Amino acid sequence: GERPHVLTVQDGNISTSTTARWVVDASGRNRTLARQLGLRRGSEHNCNAVWLRVAAEVDVNQWSDDPSWRSRLTEGDRALSTNHLMGEGYWVWLIRLASGATSVGIVADPAFHPLERFNTLAKAQAWLGEYEPQCAAVLAQHQNSIKDFRVMRHYSHAVAKVYDGRDRWCLTGDAAIFLDPLYSSGLDLIAIGNGLITDMLVRELDGEDVVARAGISDSLFRSLTEMWLAVYRNQYGLMGSPIVMSAKVIWDIAFYWGFLGLLYSNGRFARVADDPGVVPHLQGLIDLSNRMQQFFREWAAVEPRRPSATFVDLYSPMSFMSTFHTAMIGRATDYTAQFHANARLLRQVAGQLVETVVAEKCERFSEDDVMRQAQAWQSDAFLRELRSAYRHEQLTNPISPDWVPGCVPALEFS
Ligand SMILES: Cc1cc2nc3c(=O)[nH]c(=O)nc-3n(C[C@H](O)[C@H](O)[C@H](O)COP(=O)(O)OP(=O)(O)OC[C@H]3O[C@@H](n4cnc5c(N)ncnc54)[C@H](O)[C@@H]3O)c2cc1C
Repeated sequence: GERPHVLTVQDGNISTSTTARWVVDASGRNRTLARQLGLRRGSEHNCNAVWLRVAAEVDVNQWSDDPSWRSRLTEGDRALSTNHLMGEGYWVWLIRLASGATSVGIVADPAFHPLERFNTLAKAQAWLGEYEPQCAAVLAQHQNSIKDFRVMRHYSHAVAKVYDGRDRWCLTGDAAIFLDPLYSSGLDLIAIGNGLITDMLVRELDGEDVVARAGISDSLFRSLTEMWLAVYRNQYGLMGSPIVMSAKVIWDIAFYWGFLGLLYSNGRFARVADDPGVVPHLQGLIDLSNRMQQFFREWAAVEPRRPSATFVDLYSPMSFMSTFHTAMIGRATDYTAQFHANARLLRQVAGQLVETVVAEKCERFSEDDVMRQAQAWQSDAFLRELRSAYRHEQLTNPISPDWVPGCVPALEFS
């Protein structure tokens, strides 16, 4: 009803009460309000993470003496980037911290790597020795500088509702939803959610009825997170297939820049409630994302696990990544035109990937499972539409096929 919320704040032994018209819960994994309202939901994505800090500046530049690898980076320092080491069912992060320490984390799907195999420091080091021996050896060199070790079981969680305009409460950050640490989507979701929340609150405090708006923003936020979860769910196996995974990483970033990045930098999430006409267009991109994630799984199932040392330059000539990146900087002069241009380019990129992979797999006549999959792709109406969009767009707006490593380009263009 209209009555204010009553909140009790405990500071040491002193307990005080206050009232508020709105409550925004940002209590992180405590999930205070979701717990109180019975809204907590588990996630079908049940990976685990452990991490430690070592008081040393781990320098990955020293990990190989291959001159082409060493000289590839012409600006910046790869040791200062977050580096990801990947294998089937897991990734390991290396993050240099401002304090001079390095954070090392293992994130793994229990279907491949049960948490019990790496849930203590000693076990994690033994696990690294087996799967990432170079990393394990570097840690062993700094054994006495390992400072702490943390375990997070089943880090992903969901919630039945994030905003309620009638009862005037919102959940933000980990108090609402957490997906996965890969790609650092945690803070992106916090930024998107906080934009929706502040928009709603300011309007309501200005006297507007925001009940319907809260409902729309609630379903928008949960649809986006559901789509985003599919980027991770059942996809950790792909990390053992360098060819598939490098294409997936590029696709995932392209999609994030071209769709979520564009909407965010143009302040469009909060405006969806004013313009229901955009919903089918958003749904079209959500469907595209979900189909592509399924495609990556299907592809990995028929892709031999050959090692690939191919380097993919995201900013090579005719790269769509530069286009998406540039479009995301600042506000678009004509946002609607930019949205549709990005959606078209994403379909072209998806179509190029499918076309390239199908062409390559169609040559493997002798392998029944590969042929069956290639035929299924060829008769899939959704994928056929993407491939034809690709062929059509290639005539006027060609993009480079170099981002699909290990595959023969399906279409040449001059
Ligand atoms: C393994 C792992 C790696 C990650 N890596 C990254 C990354 O590289 N990049 C990235 O962007 N994100 C990363 N994230 C996600 C990111 O850390 C979180 O999404 C983010 O910190 C959540 O912020 P928050 O403010 O919601 O919660 P928190 O940062 O947890 O803050 C919640 C605060 O609320 C306080 N609190 C709790 N209960 C109460 C209460 N009852 N009363 C008062 N105060 C309370 C807590 O003390 C805390 O200070 C990672 C997450 C995991 C699990």
